[in-house]
Amino acid sequence: MPEKTHTPKFKLAIIGGGLAGVTLGNALIRHEHIEFHIYESALEFSERGAAVGLAINAQRALHRILPQADVTLERTGGVPMNSTRIMVGTGQSIGHLVFDLAGTDPGIVIHRASLLRELLAPLPKEVLHANKKLASINERENIDARGSIEVNFTDGTTTYFDAVVGADGIFSTVRDYVLREFEDKKGEYRASPAGFWDCRHLVSLEKAKAALGEQYFELDRQYGWVNDGAFIMHDVLENGTIVQCVICAVEKDPPKDRKRPLSREFFEETLGRSLESAHTRGMVDLILDQPSPHCYSEWEHKATPTYANGRVCIIGDAAHATTPWQGSGAGLAIEDAMVLGTLLGAATSPAEISAAMKAYSDLQRPRCQSVIDSSRGTGDILCGRHHEAGLDPDKLKEALLPRWDHIYGIDFEKHESEALKKFECIKQERQ
Ligand SMILES: Cc1cc2nc3c(=O)[nH]c(=O)nc-3n(C[C@H](O)[C@H](O)[C@H](O)COP(=O)(O)OP(=O)(O)OC[C@H]3O[C@@H](n4cnc5c(N)ncnc54)[C@H](O)[C@@H]3O)c2cc1C
Repeated sequence: MPEKTHTPKFKLAIIGGGLAGVTLGNALIRHEHIEFHIYESALEFSERGAAVGLAINAQRALHRILPQADVTLERTGGVPMNSTRIMVGTGQSIGHLVFDLAGTDPGIVIHRASLLRELLAPLPKEVLHANKKLASINERENIDARGSIEVNFTDGTTTYFDAVVGADGIFSTVRDYVLREFEDKKGEYRASPAGFWDCRHLVSLEKAKAALGEQYFELDRQYGWVNDGAFIMHDVLENGTIVQCVICAVEKDPPKDRKRPLSREFFEETLGRSLESAHTRGMVDLILDQPSPHCYSEWEHKATPTYANGRVCIIGDAAHATTPWQGSGAGLAIEDAMVLGTLLGAATSPAEISAAMKAYSDLQRPRCQSVIDSSRGTGDILCGRHHEAGLDPDKLKEALLPRWDHIYGIDFEKHESEALKKFECIKQERQ
């Protein structure tokens, strides 16, 4: 981080040190007038879980945040998926190709921990505060030089800021604060089950080849199989040494705690005729070959009336948790960081922060909600549940191919200039 040569004009707290919070930190570094601190409740900044795919929109947004994004991505050991091949995994058309996408702008599959490590690298140690869990936020009536927002942590400490950004994930405390005026619709705005579960495991390339077949690893290709009520996929990461194995399926009775233990009997009951394929059986063996295998219900935010309330806003999963079917949750978090970073950079005093946050919310909210909705619909198709396509390869192709256009086709230069225009309009309206 370059030395700040001017006294910062405002002080901002980022709650949550996952991909969204840490990417926002990278977006704010270049703005000398902003002092920011990132608070993470876990004992250390860390990413749980397996791989994350950064599609072309996510990579473009990251390039706009970090001029050295190419180096950052290379250091993660991420593997460009030179093609994505979707096949039918069961039924009459078993083994038939649905489509082969060999795009010029491949997604990169990255180990989550490696991505977080590289995004943390440019941030100075003094702004990173682990083992600090947000308890509550209060707006202060008597604003003084300390800042207008009181941030209380569960360790009993309090710090004052001019603004707060909640990047604290799907069950965000900051979200509750932002939506506090919508008490009567609380249930509607809470995260809820989307109708699918998934499970995953990272295995060595050799193990994956032995269980699934050598032929699936001749290229760095993402493979997906549409089954009867389920979808099976794998992709390669960590410089081609590790394979992420995934099974997802339609879920009828989601468990309350989102977690369900896995067993061979459970797979036999839920995957049914999909198990006729040796490939599917190999995938089940790989998934079960881990200590305490579990699957998790996919949850999402079905509606969110705003992402901002005064000088407090939410980004990433705190604002718009989505199912993983279009591989876009982290990409949207990076977009949020890009847009909010630009707007906060344009705010010249604490008084302008709420206009910047409103402009961010007005711009990103419709886009993110449309991805949440299209992702859920994509899950239905990939699980062979589309009313017309079913397990028919041609109809699946027709139904699936256009679904990513609205996510990838965005022009970020236009998008950011729209954000700044909104910001100016809001400021003028308030004068
Ligand atoms: C199975 C699965 C696969 C996915 N695959 C992809 C993919 O391929 N591509 C893609 O783009 N996206 C994908 N996503 C989505 C993506 O993982 C998320 O959108 C992204 O990681 C969200 O990051 P975040 O920082 O907003 O939230 P999180 O990663 O949840 O981070 C929130 C952080 O806040 C901390 N925190 C929580 N409460 C507090 C508190 N009170 N005080 C302080 N800190 C707190 C947490 O400890 C955590 O570190 C997938 C998601 C799932 C579930």
